[in-house]
Amino acid sequence: MRIGIVALQGDVREHQTLLERLGVEVRWIRREEDLQGVEGVIFPGGESTTQRRLLKRSGLWDRLRAEIQDGLPAYGTCAGAILLSHVTDEEEGYGMNLLPVKIRRNAWGRQKESFEAPVRLVNEEKPFPGVFIRAPRIQDPGEAEVLGTLEDGEPVLVRKGHLMISTFHPELTEDLRIHQWFLKMVEEAYETEKS
Ligand code: GLN
Repeated sequence: MRIGIVALQGDVREHQTLLERLGVEVRWIRREEDLQGVEGVIFPGGESTTQRRLLKRSGLWDRLRAEIQDGLPAYGTCAGAILLSHVTDEEEGYGMNLLPVKIRRNAWGRQKESFEAPVRLVNEEKPFPGVFIRAPRIQDPGEAEVLGTLEDGEPVLVRKGHLMISTFHPELTEDLRIHQWFLKMVEEAYETEKS
């Protein structure tokens, strides 16, 4: 399997390390041509304003949007989650609006800017070590399925169809479960396409 990571800014290498541990071939996506033959794409954490500017400049914004609308599976962490969603505290069109999830940037306030907290995953006994760095908050998951929450029930990992986002950073941990879920999503997407 070949997975692309949008590699314009942010924690690209961390995602790469985890994916390679899972035996996946990784491609850095910096230009439209890099998408050739890629079966799924990860939007890393970082700074969404910068990533957005570089995506627009490279032509990748429109291209990725079209490919994802067309069925390319995608997973966004933190800034990546923002870019795939509907952002409520920025101008219309700040995010790609690919996922009908309402999200607000830097929404934890100063006191709690960055923190670690256990995330409860559906159907999993063991909590996931959630690393939150100037994280956004999901205001309304809409029709997306909630796959992970904080202890008080706040959604932090959601999925709809071939799209998944987390407001935390599994790529900064040693826990491979969420990346594994994404790879399974990618496999499923291609199985349904074939059948
Ligand atoms: N605060 C950043 C943003 O709004 C996201 C932070 C992150 O990806 N760790 O883009």
